[in-house]
Amino acid sequence: MKTIYLSSEVVPFAKTGGLADIAGAIPKSLQKLGVEIVLFMPLYGTIKECQYPITKTDIQFEVKIGDKPKTGYVYKGFLPDTQVPIYFLDNEQYFARKGLYNYPGTIKDFDDNSERFIFFAQGALEAIEKLKICPDIVHCNDWQTGLVPVYLKTNYARKACFKKTKTIITIHNLAYQGLFWHWDMNMTGLDWSLFNWKQLEFYGKLNFLKGGIVFSDLITTVSKTYAEEIQTPEYGEGLDGVLRERAKDLYGIINGIDYSIWNTETDKFIIANYGLKNLNGKQLCKRALQRKYKLPERDCPIIGMITRLTDQKGLDLVVNKFMDLMKVDLQFVLLGTGDQRYQELFQNYAKTYPAKVAVKLTFDERSAHEIEAGSDMLLMPSRFEPCGLNQLYSLRYGTIPIVRSTGGLADTITDVRTDPISSSRANGFSFKEYDSDLLLATVVRAMDLFKNKKQWTNLMKNGMAQDWSWERSAREYVALYKKVVDTR
Ligand code: ADP
Repeated sequence: MKTIYLSSEVVPFAKTGGLADIAGAIPKSLQKLGVEIVLFMPLYGTIKECQYPITKTDIQFEVKIGDKPKTGYVYKGFLPDTQVPIYFLDNEQYFARKGLYNYPGTIKDFDDNSERFIFFAQGALEAIEKLKICPDIVHCNDWQTGLVPVYLKTNYARKACFKKTKTIITIHNLAYQGLFWHWDMNMTGLDWSLFNWKQLEFYGKLNFLKGGIVFSDLITTVSKTYAEEIQTPEYGEGLDGVLRERAKDLYGIINGIDYSIWNTETDKFIIANYGLKNLNGKQLCKRALQRKYKLPERDCPIIGMITRLTDQKGLDLVVNKFMDLMKVDLQFVLLGTGDQRYQELFQNYAKTYPAKVAVKLTFDERSAHEIEAGSDMLLMPSRFEPCGLNQLYSLRYGTIPIVRSTGGLADTITDVRTDPISSSRANGFSFKEYDSDLLLATVVRAMDLFKNKKQWTNLMKNGMAQDWSWERSAREYVALYKKVVDTR
């Protein structure tokens, strides 16, 4: 089965969040299951100088943005240490700049994002044709590739190369839809008749993700609970009606994690490796974390947070109860980038409570690994969470997740109250309602159990022994690929 996997970010080439981790991992598992998979992503400026070998092919293509022809070039590489090919689409005007979607250091979107991803969507189809791949499946991800299924069912429908092609779109986060001024329709080259409330129009704007949802053959999202939630007005971000219409084609498949990157036994970023049978290294990682962040080297629990600083992540709950949390004997380490408001708040907390709070406001892979390894608990009180990866990394790192039970967090974290620790399913702490009192009470519950070293160690071992690898999810994707191809 020939499958094209389209993603605007792929680890290790470019990353702003979980999508990159997923796109860098699942294709490897799909290939092992016999899928002939090829990735496409934009050639961002930073990728040209990266340490991985990338070569320019002789393939060149042209895309019309409105009536302006734009030329693209195709580069080729592989996911590191694999045989999974990845093609990079190059156009300096669109991609040779700092930042993927926003002006650097801000949360302001680039003004030409619609144009950039219209180029990427059409460019990928042009390049696929020139490469003569003729895919059975084009697997799209998020709004950046939302127009691809639209093109395949309209402007590209008659092309021989795409005669048999079926499309799947995976929604990694419904909050990001690619909403643009309606006049941007002119740049897409699509017929204006598509700009209606059943197809591309969304309250007067052009909505790329809606296009993907309406025109794809199948839709997936990244957990079963989120697949249900997004069909309700509370979580549907205005698209719940559209998703309900497509309910029979909508599937939830939980993400996995890449244990070749997130593995305590081989992790090169951490000071000491450790594993289920030898937990001593974790203690060394904790001490190293305290030293690095100038926190007293004490035995109190460390709560880590590694997160985009946005409302989605439940930071308002943390802020509401921060003074109360500071009365508890704990240390708090936060790694995050995002809203200025949260950056300032947490910076102030670090100044006010230097013996308890440390923050690092950059995007830094090494620090993410160090915090996962050195913390005792990881806090993820998300307002909504399509899947969440950090809680899965935490499980493998013996760091107990404290989560709000929503989306993928509900599907992966089993509270010690729901199942006894002896059951091996229990792996963390969770609360249901979005409420800061509940957050505080749940943290306090975790603190209490932390005092019981034996129970705590058993809980850590439960999480560390669980298998959240990609293989299981990849098999579910393959089953869906087969299903959609069989409908031809
Ligand atoms: P989301 O995709 O919504 O941001 P996920 O939990 O699915 O949330 O994935 C977040 C990914 O981004 C994880 O791999 C996490 O380690 C990483 N991450 C988030 N913030 C930072 C940061 N400031 N520095 C390094 N990695 C980060």
